[in-house]
Amino acid sequence: MPNILRIAIASPLRRLFDYLPPSEGSEGSESSKVPLQPGMRVRVPFGRREVIGLLWEVRSQTDVPVDKLKAVLAVLDAAPLLPDEIMALAKWVSDYYHYSIGEVLLSSLPVSLRKPGNALENAQKKLAKLPEGSNEILASPVTLNAHQEDTLKKIREKSKAASVFLLSGITGSGKTEVYLRVIADNLAQGKQALVLVPEISLTPQTIARFEQRFKVPIVALHSGLTNPARLRAWLQAAQNKAAIVIGTRSAVFTPMPTLGVVIVDEEHDGSFKQQSGLRYSARDLAVVRGQMANVPVILGTATPSLESLQNVTRKRYIPLSLPERAGDAVPPQVSMIDIRGQRLEEGLSNQLLGKMRTHLENEGQVLIFLNRRGYAPVLMCHMCGWAAECRRCDARLILHHAPKHLHCHHCDAQQAVPRHCPGCEQTDLSLLGVGTERLEEALQQHFPDIGIARIDRDTTQRKGAMEGLIDSIHAGENRILVGTQMLAKGHHFPQVTLAAILDADGGLLSADFRASERLGQLIVQVAGRAGRAERLGEVLIQTHHPEHPLLRELLAHGYEKYAGTLLAQRQASCLPPFAHLALLHAEGHQEKMPMDFLQEAKQAAVALKKSGVELLGPIVSPMARRAGRYRAQLLLQAPQRGALHQLLSSWAPHLETLKSARRVRWALDVDPIDTF
Ligand code: ADP
Ligand code: ZN
Ligand code: ZN
Repeated sequence: MPNILRIAIASPLRRLFDYLPPSEGSEGSESSKVPLQPGMRVRVPFGRREVIGLLWEVRSQTDVPVDKLKAVLAVLDAAPLLPDEIMALAKWVSDYYHYSIGEVLLSSLPVSLRKPGNALENAQKKLAKLPEGSNEILASPVTLNAHQEDTLKKIREKSKAASVFLLSGITGSGKTEVYLRVIADNLAQGKQALVLVPEISLTPQTIARFEQRFKVPIVALHSGLTNPARLRAWLQAAQNKAAIVIGTRSAVFTPMPTLGVVIVDEEHDGSFKQQSGLRYSARDLAVVRGQMANVPVILGTATPSLESLQNVTRKRYIPLSLPERAGDAVPPQVSMIDIRGQRLEEGLSNQLLGKMRTHLENEGQVLIFLNRRGYAPVLMCHMCGWAAECRRCDARLILHHAPKHLHCHHCDAQQAVPRHCPGCEQTDLSLLGVGTERLEEALQQHFPDIGIARIDRDTTQRKGAMEGLIDSIHAGENRILVGTQMLAKGHHFPQVTLAAILDADGGLLSADFRASERLGQLIVQVAGRAGRAERLGEVLIQTHHPEHPLLRELLAHGYEKYAGTLLAQRQASCLPPFAHLALLHAEGHQEKMPMDFLQEAKQAAVALKKSGVELLGPIVSPMARRAGRYRAQLLLQAPQRGALHQLLSSWAPHLETLKSARRVRWALDVDPIDTF
């Protein structure tokens, strides 16, 4: 029996594929002189195509008749591209999220390495020309306070073990300073540090802060990089030439031979969960990675996720806290504005406008948070009730002014603004609701002499635009800040003295079980933007529900108490972290298709006769049609994680074989962050 090469291929089929070594005299025979090792890339025939695969293992047996096996065409690497550690992590991901190992492995590689070509050699050549990096750690400009000292001591005590710490500390309490000290320890021992941040907060500001302290090679890995730049950064980390890797979620797969610590900043942030393709949580993988590498993991945030809090209760994570603001900053005063029965001008109450005036007169800056970009969320006809809707989604089109058009925020479809109502031909179309564009316009009228910076996806897409806006705020040229989520995360605006949330009601009324957790986090995070320097800050929340018990609890007793109440509610209703969920999504060109598939899938699950998992649905998804496809979902809920995974392990491969599966696109989402 010849050697059998088991190859991982980026196919949705949940299995490995057996091949023979390159045949004598073939194009690949020269390369086959290199000893074959797992983690090397190969080129193989696959169906009618040729694809790149990764060698998973070399075996002496196969379930396929040997004369049916095809030979590998070429071995592409002289040494494994992925170390054992990343192979093991990928295996874990494949088993836990129930995706094919090939999809996981290939998607963990930089894009340029997933296709044939000489990207690797080119990158190596460029890297060889880089000067040797220096290795200097500058002294911290601050003296740690007692809480920080204590925190650092506890982390140091466990620095040789795979402990997971949940570091909760309000914004400005000095968490980053603690990260920097821990990283300094690691650098001094010649070890690398991996820092994960949410997509949005990876600004040059963050990187600059690291670069000021550490004169060592630092690489940033995020979606803004070109493919060659990304590959170079990845190689620098993999070859131990970068001491610090700062990156967004996919950076969790970066090979780092001397990894000494993993830090996840803003661990509660939803952007750590990938929502399409391979649906993994980078926060959870960071913990797995730390355990596999036997190094500490620090999860930091002002507003811990309920999952992480529950892991503290279960004694899986070690709690650390920084209860006070570092330096002299004072926590802000938070209060509500009751907007029931009030006339709002473009979403702004008189009370809020008055407060803004006071703060601006006192040389402060004001931040207004509104999680809706564009000009107005609804364009409608007052005569017949027609409203602009996306042709491909069950969603309204959002009116944008600059440039003027209607935009679908779900499928990105765009169309011209009609001059008259398509229903009744009258020309006076009205706008309902307020987006950030309209808010900016209204504020300009109220405060004509004051510069306004609007920060949302529309104003920050151009390279350098975000930095420009941030600089203008720091320089005091713009003293009113209007923005979406982007504004609520991670930035330091020391001159902001008033922060306001224009509309908190969405989070109170939403059907999503995580909505109230997110609202609490948002309020605390927005509040964290005010009064960061020596000035006292004020936070105002506009709501129609000032009596809402959750809001009252948050304001009176703070996030920790609030989270405790939410946890009790989750326990009572058997929701995560007290139960474990998986969602099976399906979409198809005809309404029937996803439902037929999910029905068949459900029957298949029942037939497996595994106990301890409840199957809920299938139901039509809350957004029934998106980008022209009809959508439905089936929810799996289990009190014990083990039972859920037992079912999924036999069920997921079986789903591939269902006839109805060929007519839909389907995806499994383990630990979904929302059920929509
Ligand atoms: P966080 O990451 O929790 O938001 P940071 O570490 O960014 O907090 O600290 C907030 C601000 O306080 C920063 O400007 C930082 O330099 C400063 N700072 C941190 N620790 C101290 C300290 N012990 N004494 C004085 N200033 C500090
Ligand atoms: Zn009309
Ligand atoms: Zn659409």
